[in-house]
Amino acid sequence: MLPYPELQTHPHLPRRTFFNAAEPLLSSFKVVKESKSVLGEPIRAYAKGTGPIRVLLWTQMHGDESTSTFALADWIYNQSQSSDDSIWKKITLWVIPILNPDGANAYSRHNALGVDINRDARHLCSPEGRFLVECADALNPHWAFNMHDQRTLFGAGNTGKPATLALLAPSLPERFTGSVIHLKRAIALIGSAVLRMPEDMQSETARFDDTFYPLAMGDFFQEREIATVLIETGGGRDIIRHTGRMRTALFLKHAFDVLLNPSECIWQSAPGTYEALPENTSNLRDIIFKNAQIGDHKVDVAVQLRYNVVSKQWDMVCHDVGQLDYLHSYHLVDLSDVAPISEHEWRVRIGKTFLLPKSWERSIKEQNISAYAWVNPK
Ligand SMILES: [Zn+2]
Repeated sequence: MLPYPELQTHPHLPRRTFFNAAEPLLSSFKVVKESKSVLGEPIRAYAKGTGPIRVLLWTQMHGDESTSTFALADWIYNQSQSSDDSIWKKITLWVIPILNPDGANAYSRHNALGVDINRDARHLCSPEGRFLVECADALNPHWAFNMHDQRTLFGAGNTGKPATLALLAPSLPERFTGSVIHLKRAIALIGSAVLRMPEDMQSETARFDDTFYPLAMGDFFQEREIATVLIETGGGRDIIRHTGRMRTALFLKHAFDVLLNPSECIWQSAPGTYEALPENTSNLRDIIFKNAQIGDHKVDVAVQLRYNVVSKQWDMVCHDVGQLDYLHSYHLVDLSDVAPISEHEWRVRIGKTFLLPKSWERSIKEQNISAYAWVNPK
């Protein structure tokens, strides 16, 4: 799997920049449906193929979750390089890259009104949510792929490994009376596609929380008896998520291979694979400072790196303070030998930007923590 060469760059691109690069890639698709976002940006469904298996796939319903859009571009690119195009006789694929263009431009989860489109499945007060459901009404898909990013703080169970991929066949409501075959298929598809991944990638794949959320789009689609797969691209050891991007593209490849060759697919054993995936767990942090001394007190401090769209730099944000042995981290900095800082110098607030005390900065530099190079590029 190779990245689409025109999109090698940093993933936090506004929508227009993305489409300037992706246009040649989509030239073999045709626009089948079009609408406008709150701020008048076009939202388009692109279609390819004439096959009997109908698939609807969308990315970036949350504007600041661009990795899956890149992964979609990578999968389309790799597909276009293949000499075998029999896929297009077997499936009819509609893709909506960047369902929330205003959010993408503003690097925001929400649309321009502030609506979370993933909580708008019943009321459809957002034009973006309405467009998605109109596409589903028009295509009547058998399959739906709902693609998101998740934060780096999710791990694969308690293994200490990141949940670089988190997958879900969204649940059905308790009092659901229809057929459940489609849900079983979604579960089997995930299991079968995961089994095709190399083992090191499988061990960094988690099962997303399966609580039923009636307002979430994926749950809404599943309830409509469309076999729905949620893909969350999470953190890897690289901050710009190249690892997650490539794995998501690979997962898409395997998922489509399974869809196209159902006889090869191990429908019976695959559900066990899905159930056996470790739970997606919020127990991982970007950097943990161990044994920090603040006056007479000794604490651990966990920070997350957050992209600042205004300064176009990465900030450190304080996430947890206390005895943090129950957490895992990508990077660990032991401050046991660093002199205490006074309680009055310690002006840290949870959820706020964290400016590193000078003595801590020396430690992080000595330990050559790669993530810090993003926060302090000098
Ligand atoms: Zn999301």
